[in-house]
Amino acid sequence: MADLATNIANVRARIRAAAERGGRRADDVLLVAVTKTVDAARVRDAAALGLRTFGENRVQEAREKIPAVSGVSWHLIGSLQRNKAKEAVRLFDVLESVDSEALAEELSRRAVEQERAVDVLIQVNVAREPQKHGASPEEAAAVVRRTAVLPGLRLRGLMTIAPAVSDPDEVRPVFRALRELRENLQRVLGAALPELSMGMSEDFEVAIEEGATMVRIGRAIFADRSQT
Ligand SMILES: *Cc1c(COP(=O)(O)O)cnc(C)c1O
Repeated sequence: MADLATNIANVRARIRAAAERGGRRADDVLLVAVTKTVDAARVRDAAALGLRTFGENRVQEAREKIPAVSGVSWHLIGSLQRNKAKEAVRLFDVLESVDSEALAEELSRRAVEQERAVDVLIQVNVAREPQKHGASPEEAAAVVRRTAVLPGLRLRGLMTIAPAVSDPDEVRPVFRALRELRENLQRVLGAALPELSMGMSEDFEVAIEEGATMVRIGRAIFADRSQT
């Protein structure tokens, strides 16, 4: 648990420094600790060390892990099939990967059925990578407009996954583009989109400098350096 405590402290210090460079406070950036492939015992350790928000990218993996850790909240960060919508609504507090009107409609139906209200982000494939999920920047407006009026869903903002690059400064334009898209959509649609989920282990500092309010960090927290 000592390495976990060190990793968390390092990540928090780097978040704080990046927030200050962007003229914001560290409290304005939510750390979502990504626990894919991490077992429930280690997630409980991380919770004991003060982490409160966790992210999983697959419903199947989350199904047993989520009930095994109490007192924390969970974000779904991976692509979601419509046939898993019911379970996703039951398990997660925030769904970060909504990328179509059809998926939003199914999630709304399930949320109403379960008498739940779920926070939702619209995932945008800013860099237009063919292998990645997410609405295109052009499609995003329609998904935002539809999601904003669906019962059971609380639209909170936008999410993106930047391309993997060796120098994180190369993806600064991707983060900047998501922020500008958010500003456009707020102006044109009058939708409130306060959250921007962007930045992972390799690029979260640049994302924060460009306005991220949520960063999704896995390896920088959970990687065991002695094994890599
Ligand atoms: C795995 C994953 C992350 C975390 O990636 P790391 O490089 O381990 O920090 C963030 N977002 C999504 C969507 C992921 O699948």
